[in-house]
Amino acid sequence: MASSHTVLMRLVASAYSIAQKAGMIVRHVIAEGDLGIVEKTSATDLQTKADRLVQMSICSSLARKFPKLTIIGEELVVWVDPLDGTKEYTEGLLDNVTVLIGIAYEGKAIAGIINQPYYNYQAGPDAVLGRTIWGVLGLGAFGFQLKEVPAGKHIITTTRSHSNKLVIDCVTAMNPDDVLRVGGAGNKIIQLIEGKASAYVYASPGCKKWDTCAPEVILHAVGGKLTDIHGNALQYNKEVKHMNSAGVLATLRNYDYYASRVPESVKQALVP
Ligand code: AMP
Ligand code: MG
Ligand code: MG
Repeated sequence: MASSHTVLMRLVASAYSIAQKAGMIVRHVIAEGDLGIVEKTSATDLQTKADRLVQMSICSSLARKFPKLTIIGEELVVWVDPLDGTKEYTEGLLDNVTVLIGIAYEGKAIAGIINQPYYNYQAGPDAVLGRTIWGVLGLGAFGFQLKEVPAGKHIITTTRSHSNKLVIDCVTAMNPDDVLRVGGAGNKIIQLIEGKASAYVYASPGCKKWDTCAPEVILHAVGGKLTDIHGNALQYNKEVKHMNSAGVLATLRNYDYYASRVPESVKQALVP
């Protein structure tokens, strides 16, 4: 056990610098101007040159530093989203974009690193661009200032580019004071921990394990909760289905308020 703790902390430290390098690549591709956009399954499911370069960079760096990772891979699994919020990246909504590295142990998400390459990009020419948020369960989450939405306010954040009737029905049933529609799972969790939104509600399949692994650790490390729309915890072992078929429900506080308002019809439509 002692050695697996050591491996974990080495992995977190490496993932931190690997995520920072990834953020530089994400900015470099925009600066060069050619995004090399490819449609994966549809016009809202895109891949760019940044997705491809960052994927290669993260995987080769991890393989170089942790050649034995596959040996302990049964227990320790790394979930990587090289670019979360690709659709928004191609549309210039740059602060929606994050690089996500999540680490799971025996199926449970326990460490997460989020690089936000364009944090501060509208703060003027002198602002330092980009930041890295990281967290380990039981240790805490760092690289941001924890803030809560004012008590009694229900501000929901949901998808900007993957909406449908179920998504809208579920958000409406929560009786929100305000609804934010932004890109990226990482970005929406950042909104929860920085007091911009009180719940991330996405009642649809589409989001994958690599979208939720790192973000859920950051949220859990500060006392929040992320589940599927039924309230089930998500599993991150190697064999698990990649798709979060039963959607996402996440809050920093008052999880029960939102969970109790998910309509039965929505639950029935989303099989885990
Ligand atoms: P969104 O909130 O729409 O930005 O989605 C969060 C993450 O889940 C992004 O990485 C999306 O690419 C992914 N995602 C969510 N819904 C879908 C979908 N219907 N098709 C493909 N990817 C999706
Ligand atoms: Mg993603
Ligand atoms: Mg992606």
